Amino acid sequence: MTDASLDFAGFTPTWCGGCGNWGIGKAVELALKKQNLTPDKIAMLFDIGCSGNMNDFINAYAMHTLHGRALATAVGVKIANHSLPVLVTGGDGALYGEGGNHFLHACRGNHDLTVIVHDNSVYGLTTGQVSPTAHKGHKSKSTPQGTIDRPVNPLLLALTQGATFIAQGFTAQLPQLTEMIEAGMEHKGLAVINVLQPCVTFNKVNTYAYYLKRIQKLAENYDPSDYRAALEITHLPLEEKFPLGIIYKTDRVTYQDELPQLEAGPLVHQSPFTNAGELARGWR
Ligand code: SF4
Repeated sequence: MTDASLDFAGFTPTWCGGCGNWGIGKAVELALKKQNLTPDKIAMLFDIGCSGNMNDFINAYAMHTLHGRALATAVGVKIANHSLPVLVTGGDGALYGEGGNHFLHACRGNHDLTVIVHDNSVYGLTTGQVSPTAHKGHKSKSTPQGTIDRPVNPLLLALTQGATFIAQGFTAQLPQLTEMIEAGMEHKGLAVINVLQPCVTFNKVNTYAYYLKRIQKLAENYDPSDYRAALEITHLPLEEKFPLGIIYKTDRVTYQDELPQLEAGPLVHQSPFTNAGELARGWR
């Protein structure tokens, strides 16, 4: 590879000035570099939304998927080549809403993926309709009287459905967020990193000031291997406190570990007739 090809920088981002996506984009780029990865040694899957436009802003093997389908596509990519680190990026709308089904199954299967959620409680790209993490009563274009639904609690959802690495970051705290993404990438199994990300244009409730008043670093002696402690912390009232840090981490066999077809190495390096021999014979 030439030196230029080691650079993850793509097109200049078109995000609104002050958008929390800038911090997440920078943290992802820094984490990839710190992991000594190159653009051809990672697969990135982007969902639809402002966050998904990062597909153009980062230079790497990437796919901009259908809405809500980034996780499902990532599962396929990982099975095709489980030697590649696979990183998924999407908004809370895409990953907990349209792709909520895939989120549950990625957690319970402990697929070996790193999932970064741009949690801004609105659909920014379509001008600010409420999304799954919006708090009850949130007024928006789509809910002028305030949303009726209770918000999705992403950390609790991930924990109870079997994700083995769960963290929450804040886009304005770049060093911690970068470390969190690196730790998620080093983890074997499903890593979910929910990032509090103000949409400065369409969400006038969940602002930087709002989060700065409510974020709470985990205590020095917090033990992320303690499931009960994680359960307790993910039950914090959503509108009052937002824990920041690695909330839960455990080791469990991954989906890919249990697939006998992968024992001979990544499928992309196997002859299509090695494992499909029986099946192919059946077709004749
Ligand atoms: Fe960011 Fe919101 Fe602008 Fe989208 S609309 S780029 S989420 S500030």
